[in-house]
Amino acid sequence: MSGELDYIRENVRKLLQELPPGVELVAAAKQQTTEKILAAIEAGIKIIGENYVQEAVAAFQVIGRRVSWSFIGHLQKNKVKKAVEIFDMIETVDSVDLAEEINKRAAAQGKIMPVLIEVNSGREPQKFGVFPEKVEELARAIIQFPNLKLSGLMTMGPFEDNPEEARSYFRETKQLFDYLQNLNLPGADLRILSMGMTNSYRVAIEEGATRVRIGTKIFGPRV
Ligand SMILES: *Cc1c(COP(=O)(O)O)cnc(C)c1O
Repeated sequence: MSGELDYIRENVRKLLQELPPGVELVAAAKQQTTEKILAAIEAGIKIIGENYVQEAVAAFQVIGRRVSWSFIGHLQKNKVKKAVEIFDMIETVDSVDLAEEINKRAAAQGKIMPVLIEVNSGREPQKFGVFPEKVEELARAIIQFPNLKLSGLMTMGPFEDNPEEARSYFRETKQLFDYLQNLNLPGADLRILSMGMTNSYRVAIEEGATRVRIGTKIFGPRV
């Protein structure tokens, strides 16, 4: 067991050394025990990414606010209240309805919630996220909500074994990010471009990612 924790700490240290300055590392912690997440934090992880509100609640009760918490899964409306309590950022806003619900709950809790728009850069019908051509419209809707802070874009990209195949999707998402920045939308603070996972983070960084979300390369393969 301690060997496993050493492995995690070592993985985090190597990654932190490898990442260029200005690129944030999110530890994608789905299915991991709190003990393993704590090992990653000891080695320097500052942001935990969670896909499920229930899992996050359990880890959050032990770990608390010594790190920041980013929601990276698909958020159901009935989980928004709890999510707004725990998370410092929600990376996966993909509809006005969801934005409205987050705004409502954030207002009730006296918070301003930083959010990213999830872009379905591969235009895959079965996936979450908005198609690239719909992102500006959603961005313009989000900035109308006083308790949301539009902070950037997130994308998964199509799952490919070869990370080179993800490059064009990352590139298109970066172009969209630049385009949105140039609109100077009032109240928006577009600084985060969250893209790249274990297989693809190097390519994502080359294409302009400011934040990568890594699970397997930190914790080992999920079973
Ligand atoms: C699981 C997950 C990751 C990390 O995936 P790995 O391939 O294990 O690095 C990143 N982003 C999201 C949204 C995830 O669900």
